Order: sequence, then C-alpha cells, then structure tokens
Amino acid sequence: MSENKNLEIADKAPKKVVENTIEVKVEERIGKIFQLQTEQSLVLRSSTVAERKLVLQKFLSVIEKYTSEIVEAGQKDFNKPETETLIAEVFPVVHEIKHALKHLSSWAKPKKVSSTKATFGTKSKVVYEPKGVSLIISPWNYPVNLTFGPLVSALAAGCTAIIKPSEFTPHMSKVISKIVDEAFDEKLVAVFEGEVDVSLALLECPFDHIFFTGSPQVGKSIMVAAAKHLSSVTLELGGKSPVVVDETTDLEKTAGKIAWGKFANNGQTCIAPDYVIVHESKVDELVTTLKQTISNAYGASPKTNDDYGRIVNRAHTNRIKDLIDDGIKNEGLVVVGGEIDVKDRYISPTVVVGKYGDKKFLNSKLMTEEIFGPVLPIISYREIGEVINQINSMPKPLALYMYSENKSLTDYVLQRTSSGGACINTNMVQFLHGNLPFGGVNNSGIGNAHGEFGFKAFSHERAVLEDKFTSNHMLYPPYTKRVKSFVKFVNKYLA
Ligand code: NAD
Repeated sequence: MSENKNLEIADKAPKKVVENTIEVKVEERIGKIFQLQTEQSLVLRSSTVAERKLVLQKFLSVIEKYTSEIVEAGQKDFNKPETETLIAEVFPVVHEIKHALKHLSSWAKPKKVSSTKATFGTKSKVVYEPKGVSLIISPWNYPVNLTFGPLVSALAAGCTAIIKPSEFTPHMSKVISKIVDEAFDEKLVAVFEGEVDVSLALLECPFDHIFFTGSPQVGKSIMVAAAKHLSSVTLELGGKSPVVVDETTDLEKTAGKIAWGKFANNGQTCIAPDYVIVHESKVDELVTTLKQTISNAYGASPKTNDDYGRIVNRAHTNRIKDLIDDGIKNEGLVVVGGEIDVKDRYISPTVVVGKYGDKKFLNSKLMTEEIFGPVLPIISYREIGEVINQINSMPKPLALYMYSENKSLTDYVLQRTSSGGACINTNMVQFLHGNLPFGGVNNSGIGNAHGEFGFKAFSHERAVLEDKFTSNHMLYPPYTKRVKSFVKFVNKYLA
C-alpha cells in the first residue's frame, strides 16, 4: 500500500484511534485496537446481562440523537428518501436494540438439558459465552442497518467489535464513525473507514468471529481469510430471489407489494424480488397492474420525484445498464421504463418481459446475475414443474416469494426448493421479524442474524457437564472380563 493511501485512510479514520497523529499506519492502528479489544474481551467474558443492557441503552440514545444526520447522509450518498431511511435504516436498528433489551436475560440464561441414558448421573447445561473480538464488514445499500444490526447482536453477546463500513457511502460511514465514537470506548467498538485494503489488513487479525454482509463473490474471499485463523463466520450474502405468481393470485394486491419490494432503495436490497415467474395466463394483467402501481408510486417522472432514489455510483449504474441491454439483446421486451441517465445515476423503474420458454432470455445476464437495481424481469410458466426447475437451476437464493391463494401449491413449491427465507403473499417483511432467523443458504449465505439468532452468532455454545454419580469408572482399564461385559451392556441398552 502506498504512503499516500495510508495517509488518506488515516485521514478518514476516527481521530481518537490515532492518538493525535494521522501518520500512524493503518496496520499499526489495527494492531493496537485489536490488542486493546483482545484484553477487553477477556474482561467481557464475565460481563452481566445488566452491564450489556446499559451499553445497548447508551447506543440507543446516541442513535436517536443522530437520526437526522443519518437521514441527511443517506440523501447525500444516494438520494435515499427520508421515509426509506427512517423505515429501513433507523427502525430496524432501534427495533433490534429494544428486542435485545427485552429478551437478553432469557437468551443469555444457561439452558439446562436433561441427561441421556448413557450420561445418567450427570447434570448438564449449555452456556452462552461471548466469542470474543469480532469483525463486522458491511455493505453500502443499508449502511446503518447492516452495520449496527450485527453490532447489537455482538454487544448483546458480550463481544467487542471492529467495524469496516463500505467506502461507497462515505457520508453514512462518517455518521457511523461519529455514533460509535460517542457511544463506545474504542476498546469495545472501533470503526476503520477506508477501501478494500483496510478490509484486507483487518482480515490479517485472528478474529474470534467475522460477520460479513456483501456479495457472494467477496464472501468467498472472506471465508478464505477466516480459514487462516479458523475464525468462525456469518456470511450474509445475496442472489437472485424469485417471485412466483400463480393464476389464483389477486394481482391488484400483489403488484403493489412486488413494486415496493423491487423499487424501494432503487432495487438495491439483498432481499428485493429479483425476477418474477408468473403463470402465462396472468402476464398481461401483471404488466398492466405493475405499470399502474409504478405510476401511482412515482408519478410520470420518477427522476424528479423525491421518493425515488439513485444508484449508488456510476459503475453500478453502468453494470445495471449492461444487464438491461443484454436482456434486450436476448429478446427481452421493455414494457415499463427503460430510461437511463448514467451521469445522474438514474434508471427509471423498469420492467422487461421475456417470451415463454425463451432460452436466450433465460440465459441473458439479466436472468443469470443478481440485478441489485430497479429492473424487474418477468418470465412465465405453464406447469408448476417449470417453476421448480427454474429455481433449482440457479444457486439457492436469499429469499423466495410465493403469491398464491392455493395452499397446497404453495407447500408444493416450498417443499421442492430451498432459499434463505420465504414469504407467502408478501415480500421483504421477513427482515423485520425479530423472532425469525435472517440469513441465506450456501451461495446466499452461512449463518443467521437478528434477535436470538444474532445473539447466538456471536456466542459460543459451551457444553458444561457436572458429574453427580456416574458409573464410568466401570469402563476404566484394565479391560477385564467384567469391564468387557459392561461395555456390551452399554452398547446394547444405553446407546
Ligand atoms: P461487496 O461484497 O462488494 O462489499 C461489502 C464490503 O466488503 C464492503 O465494506 C467492501 O469494502 C468490502 N470488500 C469488498 N471487496 C473486498 C475484498 N476483496 N476483501 C475484503 N473486503 C472486501 O458488496 P456490496 O456491493 O457492498 O453489497 C452488495 C451485495 O451485498 C449484494 O450481493 C447484496 O445482495 C449483498 N447484501 C446482502 C445482504 C444480506 O443481509 N444478506 C444485505 C445487503 C447486501
């Protein structure tokens, strides 16, 4: 890394980390904070629920204090509408904290387990111990939500945390740093702003847990880096989340839900509907209702509508433009939108329809790469088996959305597919449910976040067994005839 780069990164870093000089190399600062947090993590092993709750309460009050700055930063970074920031950045974090405050005592309580036949005479429990020093690497699409959500779980579990927010949303990163500086001592939580090289430098450290949110591609390199130290990982990744719409669906209700899921935050949502697979008899009606819904939501000119945001940067705008172009090149028909202004990072809400069974369209980039933008491809099916084949021909998605009034058909689809989560007759709402695990499966992720599942991600489930009056001394050598017949008895009756 060049000296200039170091200075640049140091300049972006929280000042208290660098002890009155910005010339300290980022690697040195990382080493120093990591050492401080390692020491603190030993102290936190015996922290009480009451102490952790105090930390969370302070965190809550600082977030509330900075809410308007969060909204402002979202507007500066990518025209994020205030309402979307409040509902999708601030609300989930506040909810996560309040949920933890309410339930932490029960989550953290050792869970007694009954003894088995073979361990008769013992008393056992599962104890939740903090994993230790954690690293949280977060993406740019919901910077506050996806940085502070996992942080709540880390603090609830009694871990320390080093945070690396995304470099693509610098105003949000600044507010994140400010909140952390005010709410925590750096030996508990510290932020390292900067580009990928900062992530790579952090990944050199032997973290006890790494919680990464981002793309499957980068997720793989995170796992490789974690393997070096056998750090445990939670990987919250992405993918192409399908929406299935059958012929029993009420499209008046459904179109609004799909459009909200797809076009909120300009489609830059990990669990946004990626594409729709609709019964062939419903294609025209779905297009008409979507057109109407989009017009009702964003008016005739979404570009000048404050409720419609922007793509995060030009590179991503060009990436999405390329997906649309490739869809069109492969027989896709743009039926809504298609207006693009790369300089303004603007793509209007766009719907592209592929003809039934058209392999060219199915193999286009629009139908094979995660879109992560305001473009909705629609394909159609005649037999439900085609839906199952389509979904199973691709890596397991983060979410699957099924719109149908036919319960047995819904069960049929869910039983024959796999996804991180699933919703029936809605989309995206699963994220807001504090009692549901949130996570992917294989290509869309490993492990879970939210509520008790997030607490467990940052906890080691330690098995603690106490001997009361066991008879295992009867198995000790020398292996006499008596021992051997006892072993036979154990194998036959106590297994
Ligand atoms: P990304 O993977 O490019 O970057 C995420 C973070 O990793 C950033 O902080 C970045 O600086 C860092 N990073 C990038 N390259 C790295 C490398 N080689 N080594 C170490 N760190 C590196 O993802 P993104 O573009 O910020 O976000 C979009 C992706 O994230 C989409 O795939 C989306 O589906 C996914 N996502 C998933 C969830 C979820 O909860 N499952 C939530 C939001 C986004």
